[in-house]
Amino acid sequence: MSDRDHYEAMPPELFVLRDDEGPILYAPLGRLMARANEPAVEVALDYARDPESYAGMSEEGQAVVRALGERGFFRHRAYPRHERGFRPTQTTLFPTNNCNLRCSYCYAFGGEGGGNGEPITRMDLRCAQCAVDLVAQNAVERRDSGDGTHNFLVSIHGNGEPFCAYDLIREIVWYGQDVSERLGIPAVFNAATNGVLNEEQLDFVVANFHSVNVSFDGLPEFQDTNRPMAGGRGSFAQVDHTMRRLAEAGVGFGVRTTVTDAMVDAMPDIVAFVANNYPGIEQLHFEPVWECGRCKTSSNVMPKSDVFVRRYLEALEVAQGLGVRLVFSGARQDVLVDTFCKVSSGSFTVTPTGDVTACYEVSYASDPRSERFFFGRFDAEQDRFVFDQAKLDALSELCVHNIRFCDDCFCRWHCAGDCAAKVLDGIGVQEHHGSVRCEISRALTLNQIQRKLDYKADEKELAQEGSTEDA
Ligand code: SF4
Ligand code: SF4
Ligand code: SF4
Repeated sequence: MSDRDHYEAMPPELFVLRDDEGPILYAPLGRLMARANEPAVEVALDYARDPESYAGMSEEGQAVVRALGERGFFRHRAYPRHERGFRPTQTTLFPTNNCNLRCSYCYAFGGEGGGNGEPITRMDLRCAQCAVDLVAQNAVERRDSGDGTHNFLVSIHGNGEPFCAYDLIREIVWYGQDVSERLGIPAVFNAATNGVLNEEQLDFVVANFHSVNVSFDGLPEFQDTNRPMAGGRGSFAQVDHTMRRLAEAGVGFGVRTTVTDAMVDAMPDIVAFVANNYPGIEQLHFEPVWECGRCKTSSNVMPKSDVFVRRYLEALEVAQGLGVRLVFSGARQDVLVDTFCKVSSGSFTVTPTGDVTACYEVSYASDPRSERFFFGRFDAEQDRFVFDQAKLDALSELCVHNIRFCDDCFCRWHCAGDCAAKVLDGIGVQEHHGSVRCEISRALTLNQIQRKLDYKADEKELAQEGSTEDA
């Protein structure tokens, strides 16, 4: 048996990245990374492309191939595959499209009917109950089949502020708790909110929700300008009160901050403000504004990608010092997936009108993208949801396996083609040509790799110091 029989080359999965210190060999599927010199990179790529080249290599070249092979760099690994077959154990409910804020960049024209003159409406309670029944029943069956499911999840979200339909949320949560007790399976409740909640609502959230995401623009002046109340006054005081209350009560909560060009330089200050004022915050999620919805009629513009990256990295230094987890959705080197979100496995998201959409941002039938993302509805007469299997099958194809543009991107199995609603607006997967977000995803993913390499180098140095001392 020759040395190379141990390895199976997967040329597209061995990437060469470069930074100021030189080349980095990166095999994402094995989560393997190593700094290398140029000759080592050359033999590694030769071998990955053609294992037969091993015989003609110099001894040094063969030694490099063997060393990388022993670490698994050339090993065959299965590609990530999203779940096929629609048996959701999680539902996201949009109780209402009404909203008490008028955020200047709102993708959904919250409180204004999606910008298309759609009526302000709220979900029928029976529709919500049937969604809960469906995911709870699936969870029981899946748990009993031994697939690792152990609960069902109800997420409260909205194309408006969900707590504008607080009485409905209460009914949904109570119903979910009853179902959980009756079927003997735990229920988990999450909520996304703009944080403008009254005391009764806050008490209810603290008592019943397992985690909460608050949209907050990081500093009082940005919050008041970008996320004003429907009547025009600032919303900071109320959101600040909510986050202090959640922090005091020990409810796990995260903050999502939408970054506009006008705020990008303040990202490090935002981290410091949030960490110092709301201790216990689980994560701070920065996302550059995407120019859609109300953005088109306001002055909000997306920050330049290089500036966003620079400020994000500065913010990361601050976050690490203060123990806050910083997140940007496209940079996640620690996950291996073939889809950016659950859109391809049929995320079971129910709009206030009872339509089922795979995408949070496409929630109105009048949105041309609904043709792709709507795949079912609540049928009140039959008292159940009906789904369109052909639509589900088509959604399942929205994955990075089918996106040629991403084939040679080292983030392929992390970013997985990015948010379909943003990059596939009116086009097919074959026409995916990335977006300005690719620059951010790649730069921040490379930084995650660099940090891991630095950490390993530090560990090695410490181990060497230790062994010198021992000697
Ligand atoms: S709180 Fe949410 S739904 Fe309401 S206007 Fe702001 S972004 Fe839109
Ligand atoms: S496609 Fe984009 S907007 Fe839609 S749910 Fe996924 S991440 Fe969200
Ligand atoms: S090419 Fe862009 S969208 Fe595709 S995986 Fe890479 S960063 Fe993501």
